[in-house]
Amino acid sequence: MAVKRTPFIAGNWKMNLDHLQSIAFVQKLAWSLADAKHDFADAEVAVFPPFTDLRSVQTLVSADSLPIAYGAQDVSAHDSGAYTGEISGAFLAALDCRYVIIGHSERRTLHGESDADINAKVLAAHRHGLIPVLCVGETAEDLEAHGPSAVPVAQLRAALEGVDGSKGLVVAYEPVWAIGSGQAATPDQAEQVAAALRGVLTEVFDDEIAQATRVLYGGSVKAANIASFLREPNVDGALVGGASLDIAEFSSIARFKKHVGA
Ligand code: PEP
Repeated sequence: MAVKRTPFIAGNWKMNLDHLQSIAFVQKLAWSLADAKHDFADAEVAVFPPFTDLRSVQTLVSADSLPIAYGAQDVSAHDSGAYTGEISGAFLAALDCRYVIIGHSERRTLHGESDADINAKVLAAHRHGLIPVLCVGETAEDLEAHGPSAVPVAQLRAALEGVDGSKGLVVAYEPVWAIGSGQAATPDQAEQVAAALRGVLTEVFDDEIAQATRVLYGGSVKAANIASFLREPNVDGALVGGASLDIAEFSSIARFKKHVGA
């Protein structure tokens, strides 16, 4: 059964833009999309600023009723207590975050997050009504040793242990070798893994949830290559790093349908 999934264009700012810069950025992004008459039915647009920006973004989005979603780049597995430096899903929900990125490769490698940690964070996000943008992806060594799908499939299975699929999920396939490298996967590679990930969603949940869940591609996405990924049947959008910090470029990525006539 063919289900219409609204494409999702998500900008991961990483540790860039402070709270004042975030206000100017989101305002200009909204103007840029409005000027171009962006139809949000063509692509939902979301930004993922640093924690310290979220209150400012919330205030702006709410005051101006901007049609831009936002979320955090991480969440604690715990709800409250003696966890110095951590941010609870309850705090993110109080700031009207809709989404939270979980399991980005930089968290897995630089902060040693295990599959079990990521699973606990997905469960924590759901406890607070947040939709996880769950990142999975293989390194260049994994690709060489196991091919493209094995590691992302295993990471997805592990992250979904005990998860209620009806609570909402976005999956982002991000090959680690493609992140920030300027060397994106081919649309064929992205489709092959996205289809395998959707297969896992069917096995773990059911076909209805699998068909409704958006699977993104991430890794060196730009305005020049976004349309080729969105043409693939199982790729429903992009998680964008570097290019999400350039308003014209990010807005152009969100308008992939119009500017390339796709
Ligand atoms: C990312 O960090 O999630 C990412 C995809 O980065 P980039 O677009 O810069 O490759």
